[in-house]
Amino acid sequence: MIVRSGARWKIGNNINIPMFEAPWLRNGGVISGVGQSSDVLQNVRVHSLIDQNTNGWNYNMVNYYFDYDTVQEIIRTPIFHQVEEDALIWKAEKNGHYSVKRQAVGIAFGDSKVPLKVNNFLWRVCRDCLPTQARLLDKGVNCTYLCGLCEECYEDTTHVLFDCPKARNVWLNCSMVDKVSSVMLNHNTAAEIILALLKELTKEKFEQFAMNLWSLWKSRNLRIWQNISETCQAISARAQQMLVEWREANMRKQKCSAAGHMVVQQADVNMHYVGASSLLSSHIKWTKPQQGKLKCNIDAAFSEDLNHVGFGLCIRDAAGNFRKAKMMWSNPICRPEIGEALGLLYAIQWVYELQLTNVDFEMDAKLVVDYFNKGSNNVSEFGAILEDCKRCRNVYFENSKVEFKETSE
Ligand SMILES: [Zn+2]
Repeated sequence: MIVRSGARWKIGNNINIPMFEAPWLRNGGVISGVGQSSDVLQNVRVHSLIDQNTNGWNYNMVNYYFDYDTVQEIIRTPIFHQVEEDALIWKAEKNGHYSVKRQAVGIAFGDSKVPLKVNNFLWRVCRDCLPTQARLLDKGVNCTYLCGLCEECYEDTTHVLFDCPKARNVWLNCSMVDKVSSVMLNHNTAAEIILALLKELTKEKFEQFAMNLWSLWKSRNLRIWQNISETCQAISARAQQMLVEWREANMRKQKCSAAGHMVVQQADVNMHYVGASSLLSSHIKWTKPQQGKLKCNIDAAFSEDLNHVGFGLCIRDAAGNFRKAKMMWSNPICRPEIGEALGLLYAIQWVYELQLTNVDFEMDAKLVVDYFNKGSNNVSEFGAILEDCKRCRNVYFENSKVEFKETSE
């Protein structure tokens, strides 16, 4: 393994970074290609080591191919779904920051409430960020142009989500084919179609639409990555089940909130529920929120041994009563400022899922708070995660602040 200073790859949708002789490991490390054939050097990509379902490293694969030290470096290199494009970035000599312009744009999907992964998916479609075959070909990736669902047509976003025979059947199954077709007469891009449907459909119907859209793309990925073919019924059934579970979960949450009990949340994919024991640990600092508001404190802790970052989130009211708390962790470990940024993102997403609106956020990571409030132009993972934080805050909340609180230790 060789470490070069300066440029390193930021891993995005992982399609096009060469596995060997490219600085994609954390801190710009490179896996040497000595002894590999030129075919392997040219064609093997980092993305083959990534489990497309969890968006994390495929440990079996990594362990199979590399020696112990290399495995340790790989599994300590974080992958963030917030990073959309693979990009080679440079570290500035002076301040150690990475830079180029990114824009934060917000689209609120009306009053509709959908799970975060579906919201993120809609968002990616609307920004034309979905890695369809058309888009990959456009970026010079050597892949087929054929649609993953029908295997007959050119796969661009509009085709795979709306025009594909399989997509049309899904829209037929949920009695939306007429609406979708009529909107498609006047709109060409997937983003326009979605935004037009947002106006036309009721809140409940749009939620159902969003789940089906997500389920279609999921099916397309299952076909491409795992060679699993699903029927249209299976695609619709998954969407329907997700919708029912999501609505039930929201009802339960509302009941819990009304009772004012502390609820420990089950964590998301890739996150594991740890337990409530250390929730009220003293290192989570606190100042009273304004009257009528709630305050969410965020703390991140790093374990090199366990290769993970732990997050402590807790929400209190103006009287200092605990309303909710959550402990979670994610792996692998990452740089402190990135871990703190992730903590803020998870907190914003958690508060959104709890359907609370009057919450301010507080943490002791000055770099994160400063960038959130006045920063821009950071092209590293730190910037991508914080742009996502800003976007989520702007979309979900009207007047939530993110504030710095110095620790007294
Ligand atoms: Zn198709």
